[in-house]
Amino acid sequence: MKVLVINCGSSSLKYQLLDMTYKSVLAQGLVERIGMSGSQLTHKRGELKKVILQKLSNHAEAISLVLESLTNPKYGVVGNLQEIKAVGHRVVHGGDKYASSVLIDDIVMQEIKKYGELAPLHTPKTITGIETCKKLMPGVPHVAVFDTAFHQTLPPKAFLYGLPYELYEKYKIRKYGFHGTSHKYVSMKAIEMLGKPLSESKIITCHLGNGSSITAVKGGKSVETSMGFTPLEGLLMGTRSGHLDPAVVTYIMDKEKLSASQVNDYLNKKSGALGISGVSSDFRDIEAAASQGNYRAQLALDMFAYVVKHYIGAYANVMNGVDAIVFTAGLGENSITMREAIIRDLDYLGAEIDPVRNNVRGKQVDVSKDGSACHVLVIPTNEELMIAQETVEIVSCCFKAS
Ligand code: ADP
Repeated sequence: MKVLVINCGSSSLKYQLLDMTYKSVLAQGLVERIGMSGSQLTHKRGELKKVILQKLSNHAEAISLVLESLTNPKYGVVGNLQEIKAVGHRVVHGGDKYASSVLIDDIVMQEIKKYGELAPLHTPKTITGIETCKKLMPGVPHVAVFDTAFHQTLPPKAFLYGLPYELYEKYKIRKYGFHGTSHKYVSMKAIEMLGKPLSESKIITCHLGNGSSITAVKGGKSVETSMGFTPLEGLLMGTRSGHLDPAVVTYIMDKEKLSASQVNDYLNKKSGALGISGVSSDFRDIEAAASQGNYRAQLALDMFAYVVKHYIGAYANVMNGVDAIVFTAGLGENSITMREAIIRDLDYLGAEIDPVRNNVRGKQVDVSKDGSACHVLVIPTNEELMIAQETVEIVSCCFKAS
């Protein structure tokens, strides 16, 4: 069964076409800089790599180009789109309505739109992605796989905020957590690597990309996570502020004369590492500027490492220990210096990095010193495989039921 996985980011789109009979990737790619200058698609089929530079104004144009690439006679992998039997879509927010994946129908579409205001960077792009795929691939089942689902195991003492309880009852204001597919995938891989019984495992997973979050996974279940009601809470990110004194928000609104939606934009798109460094939201650019002596770029890196460290300490406390700290996503998998900065002075937890082993990018490796009580693992995430697996399960289940 061939399954297409679509993962719409704020300005990017990742895709994979998988043959789930063999769990093999037939083709994969990345569309970058959608809606900006210099947009491009990088399509890979095995060793073959095709880069298409094309103006892409929105995610609908990006999806069309992806489908054209998959069916292209020279570098495509299917003769026609009917060979693709299902599409799995990464959806950022499922509220507390969706604790697992679901077949997308009109009602589900409405619910996804409803929760869209809680994830303003991603959801409008995801909706465009689903609608475009449905139009271009009529009759194919589409499945939503939610970032929030893995965190539905958080206990009330962890997911509730210190607000009047009525606000939770009326509006479902609570912590939801995100990046669940990634945290689930890498924590399972970590447990395999450690060879420890699942029920006794205590793992801290650090998903560090443009958007970043940390999760405490105890006995295979998410028990605490750093993103909250929306992906804005927690760590300082590429463009998001992360945790703040809530009084700062009303103060900024007053001083800068901002409306609620303007301040939301300010905190989601203009803050974080971009706001501190004044250089870029991309950590590669920030690392380059810092190495040339840019004070604010170095400050952004220092603040990022500090806040990750801060959460690691809290989560080790929550679980009464930690067997492994896992680094994943763009920055976590690739930034040798950031991993070093985060793990520095965590020997009290038994976590120490071996600099030679840590000299690695994008590979699954235990980078800790021999004999470390707490392992430091680099595990490339594979949200696409997880999404494809869930898609197959849902589609098989629905066909059986009907
Ligand atoms: P998202 O999926 O949230 O868009 P990714 O997981 O793709 O993000 O991560 C993107 C981030 O990873 C960017 O800030 C990028 O700079 C950073 N990154 C990627 N490669 C490297 C690298 N070699 N060194 C440092 N940072 C990197």
